[in-house]
Amino acid sequence: MLPGREDTYSITLRDGLIADIAPAARSGPSQWLALPAFANLHAHADRSFTVTSFRPSSFSDALAASAKARTAFTSTDVERRATLLLERSLAHGVTRVRTHTDVDPVVGMISMEGVLAAKAAMAGRIDVDVIAFSTSRNDLPQPDAVSRLKDAIDRKPDFLGLSINSAADPRKALEVLLDLAEKNGLPVDLHIDEHLLADQIVAPMAVKVIAARNFGRHVTFSHLCALATLEPTEASRLRKGPSPCWMRGGSSRRLNRPAVRVGVWRKDALGHQPTIFQRPELG
Ligand SMILES: [Zn+2]
Repeated sequence: MLPGREDTYSITLRDGLIADIAPAARSGPSQWLALPAFANLHAHADRSFTVTSFRPSSFSDALAASAKARTAFTSTDVERRATLLLERSLAHGVTRVRTHTDVDPVVGMISMEGVLAAKAAMAGRIDVDVIAFSTSRNDLPQPDAVSRLKDAIDRKPDFLGLSINSAADPRKALEVLLDLAEKNGLPVDLHIDEHLLADQIVAPMAVKVIAARNFGRHVTFSHLCALATLEPTEASRLRKGPSPCWMRGGSSRRLNRPAVRVGVWRKDALGHQPTIFQRPELG
């Protein structure tokens, strides 16, 4: 099956690559389904599978249980759970994951070490971008928080992240994060405006700060739920700003490029491990 086309097609494979796509010689429904491999733009692999002993009754219930579980994290246990998430992701056709990895006084470097070990263990099977994520407990620009984030940068993350709304001074926190990002040549993925309160939106301020540095192409705004509270023209102006950031769900250039992999499933076996092939003409 191909997008927008009714017919059935044959895919010719050679050395693990798609060599040709042509109309099928036989008519009738196919047993197989080919899709571009999925990219998970927002994961928290270090917190995955932490609450398995009961079913949380609400989102806040789950958050409280997860916060409690974090105090008992070890890098070995983070590695085990993150690897499990990556294996399960692959089994469902995901070949790229961007994961926010906690950096704060509760977990120190434990989550970074565990997730980076899981990334190494899965190398060659699934592409993982690790974000060193300064959480709501890591209040930039406090010196100990900055020093903790620098320790995380020493471990070679792919992105820097920040829970901007929970900072005592969101602008200062952002400036410090951007200083570190520029100095270390790292892109940024922000947890920003995860609420629906128009009077508490910080995205316009963030766009201005980022635009002043001409850094917009290196920034993703994740969540940004409060965008829905703005008038369409205001939302559009924000989106198109002088140096537009990539908004909503983390569609940065790195992940927004054409799919270079294709997963092939038997139609009656969706949810099981697909076979992943490269598309050479796009790669
Ligand atoms: Zn998140």
